Amino acid sequence: MDAKLLAIPLIVSMVAGVSTDRVRSTDTALVGFGTRNDFSETSSTATTGIFGARDWIVKQFDAIAATSGGRMTVRTDDYLQPKTARTPRDVTESSVVATLAGDEPGRTYIMSSHYDDCHGDCTDGTGVAPGADDNASGVAAVLEAARVMAPHHFKGTILFVCFDGEELGLWGSAHLADELKAKGEPVLAMLNNDVIGNSAGGSGVHVFLVLWKAASAVQAYAEKSISALEMCGSDFAVLEALLHKGALPVNEIGRKVLLTSGSITWQLTAWRARAWSSGALTRLTGGPE
Ligand SMILES: [Zn+2]
Repeated sequence: MDAKLLAIPLIVSMVAGVSTDRVRSTDTALVGFGTRNDFSETSSTATTGIFGARDWIVKQFDAIAATSGGRMTVRTDDYLQPKTARTPRDVTESSVVATLAGDEPGRTYIMSSHYDDCHGDCTDGTGVAPGADDNASGVAAVLEAARVMAPHHFKGTILFVCFDGEELGLWGSAHLADELKAKGEPVLAMLNNDVIGNSAGGSGVHVFLVLWKAASAVQAYAEKSISALEMCGSDFAVLEALLHKGALPVNEIGRKVLLTSGSITWQLTAWRARAWSSGALTRLTGGPE
């Protein structure tokens, strides 16, 4: 940890209060609900399903709030999410929000995670979806931070949040963000915890997921910009080169753009070949290559 932070006695004592055993037992308890798929909400019991897990998280926060001298309040942020193109029906969303009131107004911080899970099919409420590191581990981190921080006073207000509906499109966080914006809440920073405690080795699945999510976000942004600004991939490559390298001679920018365009073309060709061979795309004859 940063040496400057280690010089602050409160931080040292809070870090010393973190229990790895408790973090692990929180993770194990959440896995024990069998599934935390959004669509297990109507079939949940006290020991299974997403709302069983939600009620358990609320109970943990209630116990933590009892150590805060009345400064922490716990609630759920509920709403009915209408059916979308990806989902078969309306579904109730319910994020858990524990608010530790600050001593001074004017600044709010958020520490968050999501507690819903999806194992393949994000609308399958009956299958198994234990989600130990996506994202019971993130919930364990938020609960443990709340535990060590709740007895202490801070200038700012801190929201400890476990979101619902992340896997289906960041529903819970979007709903809370809208609410905080409407209230004019002075949110200065947010520390989100997702897929934490995952081993660095293994199959590389999580590295793939991160890259896949990043690529999807860039693609969505590029598509929007292409239609709004009439810019294409090469224009973005110019902006990227300038953004990261600062001012460059024209021939240097040109070389970077050529490299980028070349790799995009190569990737598209590879995807197209795979789509043709798998039958996902039908090859038309007579058109441009
Ligand atoms: Zn996640």
